[in-house]
Amino acid sequence: MVDLLGQYDKIQEQIDSKILEVVKSGAYINGPEVHSFQKELEEYLGVKHVIPCANGTDALQIAMMGLDLKPGDEVITADFTFAATVEVIALLQLTPVLVDVEKDTFNMDIEALKKAITPKTKAIVPVHLYGQCANMEAILEIAKKHNLFVIEDTAQSIGADYAFKDGSVKKAGTIGIAGTTSFFPSKNLGCYGDGGAIFTNDDELAHILRGIVNHGMYKRYYHDVVGVNSRLDSIQAAILRIKLRELDTYCEARKKAAIYYSNAFTSNKNIITPAISSFSSHVFHQYTLQILNGKRNELHQHLLDNGIPNAIYYPVPLHSQKAYMDTRYNEVDFKVTNELMDTVISLPMHTELDTEQQDFIIKTIVDFINN
Ligand SMILES: *Cc1c(COP(=O)(O)O)cnc(C)c1O
Repeated sequence: MVDLLGQYDKIQEQIDSKILEVVKSGAYINGPEVHSFQKELEEYLGVKHVIPCANGTDALQIAMMGLDLKPGDEVITADFTFAATVEVIALLQLTPVLVDVEKDTFNMDIEALKKAITPKTKAIVPVHLYGQCANMEAILEIAKKHNLFVIEDTAQSIGADYAFKDGSVKKAGTIGIAGTTSFFPSKNLGCYGDGGAIFTNDDELAHILRGIVNHGMYKRYYHDVVGVNSRLDSIQAAILRIKLRELDTYCEARKKAAIYYSNAFTSNKNIITPAISSFSSHVFHQYTLQILNGKRNELHQHLLDNGIPNAIYYPVPLHSQKAYMDTRYNEVDFKVTNELMDTVISLPMHTELDTEQQDFIIKTIVDFINN
């Protein structure tokens, strides 16, 4: 699905010498590399504060801890996402409220969101799935009306631009009160281990979060709040500094590969290619088709038989997962997610795809689907 070694080959000299430099520096945790990465990411995103942490799941958890959400508070998120988003809500004893998504963009459905709001709702967590932003302008409006926090899960969409109706543009993850991301190796900005970060423009929240990631300490050995231990290593930060400089080029390479796929599939009546919304750029963390003739599972196997990696993200909706089932849910409210479970398939998508590889993937799919 990804070609991390092919990507490493092109930056190997820089990476190797930097890793060695960090090892020889003796500063392995919170060293100058972490600080520099933080500053460079703040500048890239145009956000006041980046708080690095250990992974994208922690980033979500810490953001929710920092906003002082209380057990029983309801937090609305999308039914169609990776489990991390709902996991941390449940872990903090908040009440997850899952809502359906839009069929064309796979992102949170605004009408479903409106319906899910109750007097207990305290926060909305839009997930910018597969590389493009949810409808943030609509979400912000609803949040303002009901006085809710908006925490953007940007694990799959770092670098995407969101365009507001007034013409202003902001980076994904810098629009709500907080944004979170993951530097897991296969993410668009990935390190060579685990990593994550929280973004915010709110000075007070940033201060709170910096304490939470460090055992709730604002002064050494004085623990003002219950915190966690969640740190980004210096080696990972050094790798991320190098890859951050390439991020826009990486996004372009993914977009180019996506357009190449879409041009080839667009006339096929059994295939829906990814929609790009009017308000967000798409950084194609995943390139995900919908297969309409009921042959998705067969296609999945056929591609594997032909040596073509592919994946079903995600095979089970969160509302049907054992850990997150709830009698409050009605199947009719998850019509789109339930349908997507049977139709979506994600193709190889990374910065090193070439047209020869893509032609082989395209031909194998089209030959099979036309049959
Ligand atoms: C990857 C991912 C996460 C979690 O990130 P980790 O670094 O693996 O903890 C959270 N949300 C979404 C949407 C993701 O894709």
